[in-house]
Amino acid sequence: MAIVIIRQDDKIELWKKALLAQRPELEVYSYLEDHPKEKIKMALVWKHPKGALAHYPHLELIASSGAGVDFIFEDGAAPKNLPITRVVDDMLAKDMSEHVLAVILSHLKNLDQYKINQMKGVWQPIQYHRISDFRVGILGLGALGRELATDLVKYGFKVQGWASSKKDIAGVDCYVGDEGLSDFLKTTQIAVCLLPLTQETTGILNKELFLKLPKGAFVINVARGGHLVDEDLIEMLDRGHLSGAGLDVYHQEPLPIEHPFWKHEKIQMTPHYASVSDTGSVVPQILENYDRLLSGRNLLNEVVMEKGY
Ligand code: NDP
Repeated sequence: MAIVIIRQDDKIELWKKALLAQRPELEVYSYLEDHPKEKIKMALVWKHPKGALAHYPHLELIASSGAGVDFIFEDGAAPKNLPITRVVDDMLAKDMSEHVLAVILSHLKNLDQYKINQMKGVWQPIQYHRISDFRVGILGLGALGRELATDLVKYGFKVQGWASSKKDIAGVDCYVGDEGLSDFLKTTQIAVCLLPLTQETTGILNKELFLKLPKGAFVINVARGGHLVDEDLIEMLDRGHLSGAGLDVYHQEPLPIEHPFWKHEKIQMTPHYASVSDTGSVVPQILENYDRLLSGRNLLNEVVMEKGY
C-alpha cells in the first residue's frame, strides 16, 4: 500500500519529506521515479499531467493537495467513480483573507497609482477612501469566503456574500442562488470571487454581471481564471464602469506576455500565489484521509461529484 505524488512543479520532494517527517514508515513515491504502480492506493495531486492517473490499477483515492479540484475534472482520462478529496485548512483560508485585504486596501489608498506616479516622478495627492465607505460582496461563502467575510467584518467593512445555499455568518448579509444574485450585485462595491470553477460558474465574471455592479466597482478574482471573461473585464475598465481589478488567476498560467492584462494600468496582477497549501499545516489531514481510506471510514473534505466541488 503506497502513495504517489503527481505534480509538475518543483515541490514533489517537499511534499514527500513532509509526509515522511510525520509518518517515516510510509511508502511514498514521486511519479517520476520507478515505483510499484500496483501498490498505489492514493494519489496526491496538483495540476498533474493529463492521463497520469490512469496508470494505477488499484487506485482508490485522488487527493488534491490544494483547495481546488477543477484540474481533476478537466482530466478526461482520470479514473471515474473514485472519491476525490480537497484541502480545507485554516492557514490557507487566513492567507487568502490577508491577500484579499491587501488588494482592497491598496485600492482604497491608491497605492497602485502612487507606484506608477513614483516611477514617473509625479507628486500628486489622490483622494483616498475609508473602510467604512465600502461594501464588499464575496461570491462563494465556503471555507475561504467565510473566513474572508468574518475578517472583513472585524476590520469594519460592510460585508455581504452569495452562495448556493443559505448561510448564517455574523454581520454578513447572505444572498442565495440565481434569484439572489442581482440584488447582491446591486450594492457590491468591491466584488471578490471565491467560487469553485464548475460548469455553472465558468465565465460568471462577464459583462452582464459587471453591469449589475454599481459604477466604479472594483473586482477581485482569486478563484480561477476560467471564472472571468477577459475581454469583458477590459471593456468595462476602459469604459469606466469598473474602477479597477485585482487578479491572481488566469486562463493560461503563466499569463502570456502579449496578454493585455500585463500593461493595463487599472489591473493589479499577482502570479497565482494568493494562498498556497503549507505542507506542515496540510499533511495531517492527508494522512488522516489515508488512514480512513485504508480502514474504510468516511473521508474528510470529500468532493460532491454531482456539484463538482
Ligand atoms: P468551497 O467549496 O469551500 O466553497 C465554495 C463556495 O462557492 C460555497 O459557498 C458554494 O456554495 C459556492 N458556490 C459554488 N457554486 C456556486 C454557484 N453555482 N452559485 C453560487 N454559489 C456557488 O471552496 P473554497 O472556499 O475552499 O475555495 C474556493 C476556490 O478558491 C477554490 O475552488 C479555488 O479555485 C480557489 N483558490 C484559489 C487560491 C489562490 O491562491 N488563488 C488558493 C485556494 C483556493 P454552497 O456553500 O452553498 O455549496
